[in-house]
Amino acid sequence: MRRPWIGGNWKMHKTIGEALELARALKAGLPAADSVEVVVAPPYTALKVVADELRGAAVQLAAQNIHWADQGAYTGEISPVMVRDTGCRQVIIGHSERRQWFGETDELINKKIGACLNHDLEPVFCVGETLEEREAGRVEEVLTRQVREGLRGFNRGEAARGVIAYEPVWAIGTGKTATPETAQQVHSFIRDLLAGLYDKTVASAKRIVYGGSMTPETARGLITQPDIDGGLIGGASLKAESFLAIVKECI
Ligand code: PEP
Repeated sequence: MRRPWIGGNWKMHKTIGEALELARALKAGLPAADSVEVVVAPPYTALKVVADELRGAAVQLAAQNIHWADQGAYTGEISPVMVRDTGCRQVIIGHSERRQWFGETDELINKKIGACLNHDLEPVFCVGETLEEREAGRVEEVLTRQVREGLRGFNRGEAARGVIAYEPVWAIGTGKTATPETAQQVHSFIRDLLAGLYDKTVASAKRIVYGGSMTPETARGLITQPDIDGGLIGGASLKAESFLAIVKECI
C-alpha cells in the first residue's frame, strides 16, 4: 500500500506574514488521521518561520528548488545544506516552471536529485509534457527521456527515494485538469518505465502523484485511480480551505 502524498507548492507567493497565517490555518484544520503525507513548499524566505510554526504538526516542509553544490560562489542560489538547516526534508526538483523559465535541463535536474540524496532530502521529481508534445504524440518519448535522464546513475535504493510528480505542462495553472483516465494512463506508463529501469518492487512502491489544476472537485476522481498516489497542488494550496479539502479527499 502506498501512502498518499499531498504537497502544496506555494511558488512565488506569500510574504513571511502571509505564509505564517496560512501555516497556522493548516495546522488548525489538519485532519487527525495520518493516513496522508502532507507537505508544504513555501518560498525560501518563509521556510524557517513556517518550519517553526509547524513544529510538532503532521506537515512536512519542502523547498521549491536547490542548487546542486553544498556551498560556493553561486550568487542568488540556495544549497541543500541551507534548506535542510531550515527544517526541510523534501525538495521539488525540475518543476516545469524551472525547466521553462530558468533553463533547467535533464542533466541539471539529475545533479539536483543527486544533491538531495546526498543530504537526506527526498526529491519531488517533476516530469511532464507540453501541449505541443502531447499533440505531436510524443508523451511517452518525452517522459521516458525525463525519467531516465533524471534518474541516471542512481541505484534502486536511491531511485526509490521521494516521489515523482507527473505534471502535464498544459494543465499547470490553466484550470485544464487532466481527466483521471488520461492521468492514469501516464502514471501507469511511468510505473512501467521504473520497472524497466529498475524492477517491479521499486516500481510498485514508488509514489507517483499528479499535478495540474487539481482542486477539491477534481481530486477524488484522480486519486482513486490505481496508479495515482496523491497530488502536487499549486493554486489550490494557497488557501487553507481548498488545500485541506483536497487532503480530506485522500482519507
Ligand atoms: C504546480 O505548479 O505544481 C501546480 C500543479 O500548479 P496548479 O495546481 O496551480 O496547476
